[in-house]
Amino acid sequence: MPNLDKLKHGLIDAAESLRGALTSMSDDFYRNPETGLEEKKTSSEMQAFLEKYGFTVEAGVAGMPTAFRAGLGKGRPVIALLAEMDALPGIGHGCGHNIAGTASIGAAAALSEVLRGLDWSGTVLVLGTPAEELGKGKIEMINAGVFNTVDAAMMVHGSSRRTVVKHFLGLTRLNFTFRGRSSHASAYPEEGINALDAVIQTFNAISALRQQMRGDCKVHGIITEGGKAPNIIPELASASFYVRSKDLKELASLKERVVNCAKGAAIATGCSLDVREEGETNAPMKLNAAFADAYRGALKVLGLPEDTQAPGRNVGSSDIGNVSQAVPALHPHVPIRQGINIHTREFADATVTVDGHRALMEGVKTLGLTVLELLFNARTLDEVKKDFLTE
Ligand SMILES: [Zn+2]
Ligand SMILES: [Zn+2]
Repeated sequence: MPNLDKLKHGLIDAAESLRGALTSMSDDFYRNPETGLEEKKTSSEMQAFLEKYGFTVEAGVAGMPTAFRAGLGKGRPVIALLAEMDALPGIGHGCGHNIAGTASIGAAAALSEVLRGLDWSGTVLVLGTPAEELGKGKIEMINAGVFNTVDAAMMVHGSSRRTVVKHFLGLTRLNFTFRGRSSHASAYPEEGINALDAVIQTFNAISALRQQMRGDCKVHGIITEGGKAPNIIPELASASFYVRSKDLKELASLKERVVNCAKGAAIATGCSLDVREEGETNAPMKLNAAFADAYRGALKVLGLPEDTQAPGRNVGSSDIGNVSQAVPALHPHVPIRQGINIHTREFADATVTVDGHRALMEGVKTLGLTVLELLFNARTLDEVKKDFLTE
């Protein structure tokens, strides 16, 4: 069994020696952003890099051409590093997946360098997980059984802060389409059935419902079709809503109440209603205290303080939530710069600055160190697994 402390220091050195290659990879992704399921160049660049570092790569897993699996080593435990890769339409890498993805690829390469020639058992698995912004990639991979032999999975994500524990809400996407009857809005209003009224009633009913919602729940929507001209009673109108909660049971109940708002609006206006759920439900994040502590150990080795922020604040949803329900998972944040928020151009631009590069290298090291801890300290992995089963 290799000496763990020595391995950890070797990992930091290996990461540093990769700095130039990794920052230029992340910058390259920034300059050539690709949206969900279109990440062809990004995915193949990641794969080629991993192959260079001795990983066996299988491309196109789970029916998605840009998803891949790359393994180094043999047998259990299997520790997975998740490499996100998709950009946002219009604003490029405003979620910083160039940093998130490259951090996992870099940690994998550094691990390969430090483990080369040593006698060890276990597998470092890199999973290229596309289309996070579509709430899709990881869910498809779970459904295809890609996570079946994974003992623990992790990734980092860029942020304004260094947080170890990050909540995510469960999310269901609902599309409502109301159909009525068109007529001249002035000459024959009594002949019409106003589908736009049904949409507006839905919004009003949901606004009333909001007062009775639990504190962790959120509902927000837009009108996607609201008629063609003011002198035509709209025969068709539609709206999209996101419904979120931190637990799946509450999410199911809230979804039903939101659908009832639309049903009530359909009855009130005389419209027909079509309810469609878009994509699969994103599960909330199942937190794992032992896994978080293992990551804190890596921060300690690097002398980096964790930011104190209530982990339940500023929360969205991600398909990492579904991973966390399937296997022990961790999604810490690496800090780029205070005061910037994800899904903005400013955030995308920050990923290629000195601050962005520092965050990237922090992620490479923390991920690498935590994987070493899980591979070579059986007690840590046991605790992570126990935590997963008991919560
Ligand atoms: Zn995002
Ligand atoms: Zn993201």
